[in-house]
Amino acid sequence: MIVKSAEFICSNTQISKLPPPVKPEYAFIGRSNVGKSSLINMLTGKKGLAKTSQTPGKTQLINHFLINDNWYLVDLPGYGYARISKSKKEDWNKFIRTYLDKRENLQCVMVLVDSRLEPQKIDLEFCNWLGEHGLPFVLIFTKADKQSAIKTDQNVAKFRKALTATFEEAPQHFVTSSENQIGKEDVLGFIDQINQN
Ligand code: GDP
Repeated sequence: MIVKSAEFICSNTQISKLPPPVKPEYAFIGRSNVGKSSLINMLTGKKGLAKTSQTPGKTQLINHFLINDNWYLVDLPGYGYARISKSKKEDWNKFIRTYLDKRENLQCVMVLVDSRLEPQKIDLEFCNWLGEHGLPFVLIFTKADKQSAIKTDQNVAKFRKALTATFEEAPQHFVTSSENQIGKEDVLGFIDQINQN
């Protein structure tokens, strides 16, 4: 898929104010600092589209971007801020989980995982929650340029293995680097394929 246009539509703190669910939607989510904004900017080819390095604990927003007038790319707030208060964490949980559970045009959740790290509990728990709620998801491993391909493969394999404790089969995954433009075609091709069906 070639991204011809990527337009910011709205930022929301309320589920009731989301755009009408008339176009297929793909939600990007992961731990804070996982490289989500950088990935969104790489996919869309627009450097400043998603704001990188947002301050932890700021208002949690669901950002909608319209791609090629055809589908929504959704930037969800990151999880796992170490310094966020308990009540803010609960707000996050409620807001995002309600969105994920209720959004009828949501085609797939794109779960971003830092390829440098061994499997992290918070990421595995989130994947398990998606599974329990019957939500389709894929894994996007980020920052692959930061270490050797062997190390990336090892961490990917460990994460997939950890998921098989609860899933019969680990979901599809992509290895990406926003720094080196790796994985762009694969992720966009995946979305294109779903949009065609
Ligand atoms: P977000 O908080 O998940 O939106 O993460 P950002 O996109 O703001 O990225 C967090 C930090 O990681 C920034 O300093 C980015 O420059 C860096 N970063 C993100 N993606 C990559 C990548 O693919 N390769 C490298 N080397 N650094 C990255």
